Amino acid sequence: MNVLVINAGSSSLKYQLLNPESGVLLAKGLCERIGIDGKFTYKADGKATKDAVDVSMPTHAEAIQAVMDALTDSENGVIGSMKEIDAVGHRVVHGGEAFNKSVLITDDVLQAIEDCIPLAPLHNPANLTGIRACQKVMPGVPMVAVFDTAFHQTMPARAYMYALPYEYYEKDKVRRYGFHGTSHKYVAGRAAAMLGKKPEELKLISCHLGNGSSVTAVDGGKSVDTSMGFTPLAGVPMGTRSGDLDAGILQYVMNKYNLSIDEMLNVLNKKSGVQGVSGVSSDFRDLSDAFEKGNERAGLAVDMFNYGVKKLIGAYAAAMGGVDAVIFTAGVGENSAAQRMAIASGLEFMGVKMDAEANKVRGKEAVISAADSRVKVLLIPTNEELMIAMDTAAIVK
Ligand code: ADP
Repeated sequence: MNVLVINAGSSSLKYQLLNPESGVLLAKGLCERIGIDGKFTYKADGKATKDAVDVSMPTHAEAIQAVMDALTDSENGVIGSMKEIDAVGHRVVHGGEAFNKSVLITDDVLQAIEDCIPLAPLHNPANLTGIRACQKVMPGVPMVAVFDTAFHQTMPARAYMYALPYEYYEKDKVRRYGFHGTSHKYVAGRAAAMLGKKPEELKLISCHLGNGSSVTAVDGGKSVDTSMGFTPLAGVPMGTRSGDLDAGILQYVMNKYNLSIDEMLNVLNKKSGVQGVSGVSSDFRDLSDAFEKGNERAGLAVDMFNYGVKKLIGAYAAAMGGVDAVIFTAGVGENSAAQRMAIASGLEFMGVKMDAEANKVRGKEAVISAADSRVKVLLIPTNEELMIAMDTAAIVK
């Protein structure tokens, strides 16, 4: 079975063709500058790769058509015809409270995704455009929506409610939704497999640490709390996002610098986080380089980030009444041995004992805690596309 996974943005579209049963990736690439001048990249295992060629893409439909042409190309294609694509899985950012799992896309589902636009005004419209473009180019192929928020819909009210007047929740749907759900679900499933246990038997803390970061408590296979909130701005400090902060700061800073709320939010989303604190970069590699050269603020930014993640691990262990394993994933979690060590050290009191040698690993599944560590620490590369393909396959079968 072949599943095409689509992640559509407003002017870009990422695609992967995968076999969800074997996990084999047949081809992947990126359509960029849709509606502008159209750049297309395509990579297939063992075939010539196309490096950013110009392809006319006035809309997402031409982008999908370009993907089809590349996948079925007689020289560099990986399938004979579009008939060999059994289903399409679409990443959709926000499913609100309407979706607690992935679903087959119908007219009602499209309407419900549209109803969630106020919750994700930048993302959901682009995701919808991607779905409609696929429906146009690939009529009759079943399509599935996989939501970033769905995995977190199992959170209890005490975790997802904000202590605001209740009508903001009731009338306006203001609550914690959480994001990165596809990633947390994938690594939690892999953790159970690595530990030889059923998901129902495990209390896990999943740390997705990348440009955007979130930490999730997974109890018995279900998300019970997560650090991102109503939007992906909440939680630990990120590349350029502030993470949690005292809302009183907004009034103070906005008054002092005469900022509008949009300008303020732009600061919180794009000029804060480790970039804002360090003044150096949003990229953690640049920060460790700068710190090694004596830049104290770069060191402080990384320290604040590591500390934020460590505090959440403690908090979520308390929330679940224990923890069997801590998982590190995404760019920082998969690659930075130093940051994994900084986050996990000092947690010996709760049964976390790292193995410095085992931790010298990157980008592959590994147990990085000591053999006698009561709490296992796992490195698990995330694979959101595979998770989307697996969900899609399970639904269309
Ligand atoms: P995104 O949220 O954009 O998907 P990723 O999961 O790809 O992000 O993570 C990107 C982050 O991972 C960047 O900040 C990058 O610095 C960090 N990263 C990648 N490799 C390393 C490394 N070797 N050491 C520290 N950080 C790394």
